[in-house]
Amino acid sequence: MLDNGDRKIVDEVLEDFAAIADIPRPSLHEKAISDYLLGEFRAFGCDVCQDAANNIIADRAASPGYENAPRVILQAHMDMVCVAAEGVKYDPLRDPIRLCRTGDALSAEGTSLGADDGAGIAMILYVFRHAENVGPLRAIITTDEETGMSGAQALDIKVFSDADFLINWDSENFDELTRGCAGSVGVDFRRNLHWYNPMMPQAWHISVSGLLGGHSGERIGDGRGNAIRILAQTLHALKNTGVSFSVASINGGSARNAIAAEAEAVIVTQSRMEEVSRAISEMEQHVRSVFVNVDPGISINLSDAEMPAQVMGDSDMEALTDGLLLLHTGVFQMSPTMPGLVETSANLGLIRTERNGVWFSYFARSSVDEKLGEIAEACRVLGMRLGLEVSVATPSPGWRERPQSALSDMMAKIFEEQNGRLMKVGVIHAGLECGWHIKKAPHLDMVSIGVTTHDIHSPKETLDLKTIAPQVRLVMETLHEIAQEKCALQ
Ligand SMILES: [Zn+2]
Repeated sequence: MLDNGDRKIVDEVLEDFAAIADIPRPSLHEKAISDYLLGEFRAFGCDVCQDAANNIIADRAASPGYENAPRVILQAHMDMVCVAAEGVKYDPLRDPIRLCRTGDALSAEGTSLGADDGAGIAMILYVFRHAENVGPLRAIITTDEETGMSGAQALDIKVFSDADFLINWDSENFDELTRGCAGSVGVDFRRNLHWYNPMMPQAWHISVSGLLGGHSGERIGDGRGNAIRILAQTLHALKNTGVSFSVASINGGSARNAIAAEAEAVIVTQSRMEEVSRAISEMEQHVRSVFVNVDPGISINLSDAEMPAQVMGDSDMEALTDGLLLLHTGVFQMSPTMPGLVETSANLGLIRTERNGVWFSYFARSSVDEKLGEIAEACRVLGMRLGLEVSVATPSPGWRERPQSALSDMMAKIFEEQNGRLMKVGVIHAGLECGWHIKKAPHLDMVSIGVTTHDIHSPKETLDLKTIAPQVRLVMETLHEIAQEKCALQ
């Protein structure tokens, strides 16, 4: 239960949060929310700019007497991942998020909540209204964090040059402080297909399911199975056992940055079902024994399928399955300096069969930017050898931990004083906009924090309201101490 002081803070933060939730804001459709924020920051006297990417940059003057204190940037993003539960009618471009509060938990009716990162924005608005005895503040609210970080990428270098500190308000646990993250690069492989009439009498559906999956930045170190890889292994094994077949389609995965939890293929064959079925259950035994400790529910199933209208040629199928077999999925390297942290990894996230061809996505992360370049180059070579078209997206830079961070030390100390326990300080393998900021402004002393949320990017997304007031107090005190110049720039 919230006490009275906390309730006042939470109610006010929620008022802003509700206003933001009312404005549809999927990634790359942020004009309306950007205009709204422009008006809000203007209404309390800030100097506000909306740039060409619809990012909002708002300056709040220092409290009287603190004009010479270092400037601190508070940063969040305005777009959200819009998803609905099965059976819920939801148009992300038109429909507001309907909030639903149960005790100290806030969620949405049938959709994602957008606490990632509406909570960050609402709390920045609160700080801008109420902070006292602080130096000059700047809010930067970016667009399109979720699909490509193009807002952060577009920010003018000048918005950082007169600031010393940056607090990114986009993490997921109020008792964790992040001081470094991984960069990433997405690679798409594509094979244009020649289709043929199916010349064999039987059609089968092969499905790989029961895997745990998970976010590739958070769970890749667990060594879980990848359904797309397992399906490719299964097709390869079928071929090796002498089953003659053609593939009509391969599909799998749910997002580039999610470990594929299911995949399926339709094949046509003239081999007897027992023969196909034996090869498949041998493969199932094999993968079950590989993943027995980490992903125990994996199953590979064979069932009847409708005869497809067309199938791909053998060389197309081989190019695709060879590519999927040769690309390493999982951890490349653990951090040599931080125990337990994954340094470099890659994930097969999606595969889709379309009218003219098949494409699949490969998403690599690393805290060493150069390694992303190495992986992208290896992808180009592999694609050339196998006859797959390769397109490499602009890499998102990582944020390398700096040896000393006065801001991080100060916030951890204040957190401990305020909450009577230690704040967890560390580096993550997922990505943050901080990578783009630090690339432009290496002088910035930067951390990432956030209120506690659960199941983001899903219709179960929940915000823990109890963590709002403690985090407001942490940031207020940090801003005050920076202004008192207790925190000399390193
Ligand atoms: Zn976010």
